[in-house]
Amino acid sequence: MSHHKVVIIGTGPAGYTAALYASRANLEPLVFEGVQPGGQLTITTEVENFPGFRKGIMGPELMEEMREQVLRFGTIIKSETVLEANLSARPFILKTDKAEYTADSVIIATGASAKWMGIGKDQQLSMSGGGVSACATCDGFFFRGKEIAVVGGGDTAIEEATYLTKFASKVNLIHRRDKLRASKALQDRASKNEKIVFHWNKTVEDVLTSSVETPLGEKVEKIRALKLKDTVDGTSSELKVEGLFVAIGHEPNTGLFVGQLPMDETGYLKVEGASSRTAIPGVFACGDVQDHVYRQAITAAGSGCMAAIDAERWLAANGIVE
Ligand code: NAP
Repeated sequence: MSHHKVVIIGTGPAGYTAALYASRANLEPLVFEGVQPGGQLTITTEVENFPGFRKGIMGPELMEEMREQVLRFGTIIKSETVLEANLSARPFILKTDKAEYTADSVIIATGASAKWMGIGKDQQLSMSGGGVSACATCDGFFFRGKEIAVVGGGDTAIEEATYLTKFASKVNLIHRRDKLRASKALQDRASKNEKIVFHWNKTVEDVLTSSVETPLGEKVEKIRALKLKDTVDGTSSELKVEGLFVAIGHEPNTGLFVGQLPMDETGYLKVEGASSRTAIPGVFACGDVQDHVYRQAITAAGSGCMAAIDAERWLAANGIVE
């Protein structure tokens, strides 16, 4: 069983930034890539809101840059997925699909995953630039002057619909009931926005696409309409849109820690105040796994930096490093 001072679980912007700081502090962190190496940014196309890239950068390329940067300072990256984490005693024990490890400190950066409808290849279209997204802040800009749809009735859907009116000519909000789950304040703001049209009691039955040729001559499947079903009278209708934002919630990837670490009612890890400390000394959390509010690559990266600094200080305070 190999032992490490710092083990980082996850390789999104939070995990890599934690690895960058920990490796530059000579902690030789061990990082587990998990099932989605590079995290959520590897399923987006162009990233225009990460500082430092004035022409934007493709999500997968940004994550590759982060990976190479942490390797430069001695981070050890393993293509393994943690299947069990025993945080009940120190050293902590982590079992992966290949081996077992012990650690003095653990940084959890397992992220969150957008929920998809599983209808009409919605998730697949989001990965291939087909006009489907689960992040308005990331992709809203690409829909300037276009008619689009948002699915969902919670805070995220209403907030995203409102944000998207900055770009889109019209935002169709599709909700499966006749009442929103979103807070009253967000509802009031959205109902006053003339660009938002509510489609009540509607579910998406299908995402209809057409084949479009890109300027480079490639054929890409792009969304052209949604097939909707009325949940009250069962009738079907078609809504022409050039973009779809799925906002039916995110799931934090916290299954490994159930019963070990405090979580909020939606499963996000709780940290102490403005820190990355969890309820277990030596265990830190950063990125989307502990943040359902901002959920941006740059905020995840910032919290990864915090986690590495918190871990380094904790290791020093406990005499594990100087
Ligand atoms: P959420 O509150 O769970 O809402 C998900 C919405 O999607 C619900 O309206 C739900 O419909 C709908 N939905 C779920 N599955 C669906 C499906 N398969 N097909 C169609 N519709 C579906 O998720 P969220 O809006 O992402 O919010 C998550 C948490 O973050 C909440 O606690 C929220 O308050 C918080 N948040 C807060 C803010 C803020 O305060 N500014 C912003 C964003 C998020 P039903 O209503 O019928 O269940």
